[in-house]
Amino acid sequence: MTEEELALLAQIVDMVRSLLTAPAIIGVPEQFASNEAVAELHTYLLETRNVITSFSNGDFNVKVPLKGSIGGLLKNLQANLRHMTWQVQMVSKGDFTQRVDFMGDFSEAFNKMVVQMDATLRELKANEEKLQKLTNDLRKEIDVRFKVEDALRRSHKRYQELALKDPLTGINNRRNFYEIATKEIKRIQRSGGVATIGMLDVDHFKAFNDTHGHLAGDSCLKIVAAKMTDMVREVDTVGRYGGEEFIILLPQTSVRDGYKVAERIRTEIASTPILIDKDVASVTVSIGITEISKEDFGKIENSKDPLASLINEADLALYNAKMARNKVTVYQDINESVLDRLKD
Ligand code: GH3
Ligand code: MG
Ligand code: MG
Repeated sequence: MTEEELALLAQIVDMVRSLLTAPAIIGVPEQFASNEAVAELHTYLLETRNVITSFSNGDFNVKVPLKGSIGGLLKNLQANLRHMTWQVQMVSKGDFTQRVDFMGDFSEAFNKMVVQMDATLRELKANEEKLQKLTNDLRKEIDVRFKVEDALRRSHKRYQELALKDPLTGINNRRNFYEIATKEIKRIQRSGGVATIGMLDVDHFKAFNDTHGHLAGDSCLKIVAAKMTDMVREVDTVGRYGGEEFIILLPQTSVRDGYKVAERIRTEIASTPILIDKDVASVTVSIGITEISKEDFGKIENSKDPLASLINEADLALYNAKMARNKVTVYQDINESVLDRLKD
């Protein structure tokens, strides 16, 4: 080869090297501008560079215009890369059946990853179901506990009521009345003021029961209790003392004002019709009242239990009222000799 020929060959080698290795692109050397084979080689290498550049940038849709073995390999690679991209998309949509079997090491890694993702997701789902079941069980348990608590609360309330209220009439029982009245009396002893205590007894109630029956007698007692409750203030206390006897406490009330209240109760009950089936009955009541004020504590009979003394006084007044029946008597108005007789 002549020196001139060697120099020309070197130009072609430079052109090929630059197209294969250098960032800058060298055009067809001038001397070969009209040489078809060199121009074809230049175009082939340039197109190969362009396709590889596109692939390396992640563009797998570029047109591969190359023929021959390199073109065939690049087209093959392009098809594989596009298929894999699609498979990754399918996995991202939850299709874990996707497997790659045409990309050697990559296939193995991809397949392992998909299997692992599938297993992890299944485990997560199973855990979520377990958690959901636990939550449901817990919710049921809480529900049951709430119901039990509610039932307990209701039965507690019921027991409290039973302990404080008279079951027939719903007003305070004797024990609870005693507790409330004792507090009020202690308050008067401490701070002064006045209160009236009254005992009420239904007249001829045995005869009422005998005539109308025990059930009608019960209704009658309920009506008497309701009337008494209706006719006093919020601060007053009404209780069932026992049988057909009732007791009443009127705080901050002198016996004169207490008398008016007792009279109203007496007349109201006397004029209240008591319906028994088709019959209309009526009852009257007798009431004895007495008064307590701070000054009375010195002369009270039972100083340890002033309420017992007061109840005793109201009872004596009630005995006195019973001489006439349908009547209110004030203890303080009974004269000594009558009182002595009543006490016997
Ligand atoms: P007085 O006018 O003197 O008070 O005569 P009374 O008949 O009302 O008095 P007595 O003490 O002789 O009779 C009271 C009656 O009250 C007798 C008893 O059977 C009745 N009684 C007591 N408790 C109840 C009750 O809860 N329901 C009913 N229906 N009757 C009752
Ligand atoms: Mg009685
Ligand atoms: Mg009676």
